[in-house]
Amino acid sequence: MRYSEDVYDRARAELARRRQSAESTYYQHAETIRQNAPEIYKEEQRIRNSFFKLVAQYLGGDTEGGIERIQSDNLSAQQRLRLMLKEKGYPEDYLDTHYYCERCKDTGSAGGVTCECMKVLLKRFSAMELNEKSSIRPERFEDVRLDIYPDNEVCEKMRKVIGFLESYVERFDPYGENKSLFFYGSTGTGKTFLSSCIATALNEKGVMVSFGTAFELLKRLEDENFGRVNGDSMREMIDADLLIIDDLGCEYHSKFSEAALYNLINSRMNLHKATIVSTNLNTQELKNTYNDRITSRLMGAFTPIRFFGSDVRLMLKRKSIGQ
Ligand SMILES: [Zn+2]
Repeated sequence: MRYSEDVYDRARAELARRRQSAESTYYQHAETIRQNAPEIYKEEQRIRNSFFKLVAQYLGGDTEGGIERIQSDNLSAQQRLRLMLKEKGYPEDYLDTHYYCERCKDTGSAGGVTCECMKVLLKRFSAMELNEKSSIRPERFEDVRLDIYPDNEVCEKMRKVIGFLESYVERFDPYGENKSLFFYGSTGTGKTFLSSCIATALNEKGVMVSFGTAFELLKRLEDENFGRVNGDSMREMIDADLLIIDDLGCEYHSKFSEAALYNLINSRMNLHKATIVSTNLNTQELKNTYNDRITSRLMGAFTPIRFFGSDVRLMLKRKSIGQ
């Protein structure tokens, strides 16, 4: 799929940051060894230099023994070094450069093809780009205030809902199957707020979450479909580990939006990927607004979560604001 230049730039910057971090750890370790075990340091430098010399000779046309000899000489020298480190009480791999991805050494490509780690980064930054276009602000579970629910009974019910959602986040496995959830309840019961908490918490765990209101997501798909803007958001929304469609029913309703919505929900179900849909509509309003193909999926394959209370939106302010 095609990603924007900005997504590539962010992915390349992240790779550079990883390389730098791996290399700076190596230099710190090398400095410790230089000060505390100079004989090991000298040996390590000797191995490095002779390795580079051999490579230079090889590249210069001196192919006696060839690359295999260089590799085997280097390997046995490395093993000696490991033994020396161990004898001095350091971990054997203390002077190795520990890359985040050993396969591509954090360069993003291995054997001439794009490495899996780069693909993951591209997907992640592409989902982030999509979320930045959303009007929903990031929220956190730490900022949830149960005391805003005036009624004890409602408060208890919402405590259960929040507990369930927190454990949903905790157990979310981007490589496994996760439940699709259907949030319903009247306006302002905290559906958007808690959806945003889920998106923030999962993003921080490295899970790719695509998140927006139904209006924003479907408008974007429509603009791209009719060539008004560039992008492949449909692919991104289908590929995300979790897609959150907030406030279903607020979108501009058209044949296109209905087909796109069905395509999103259905494609993700076929790929066993979880989706969270929230709405203020009740069952009858849903049935009046959407075709059977959509409502039967929402009601059949999603776990329903009811939100209780009256309008708590204004009260759901961050604790830090002190309101
Ligand atoms: Zn890699």
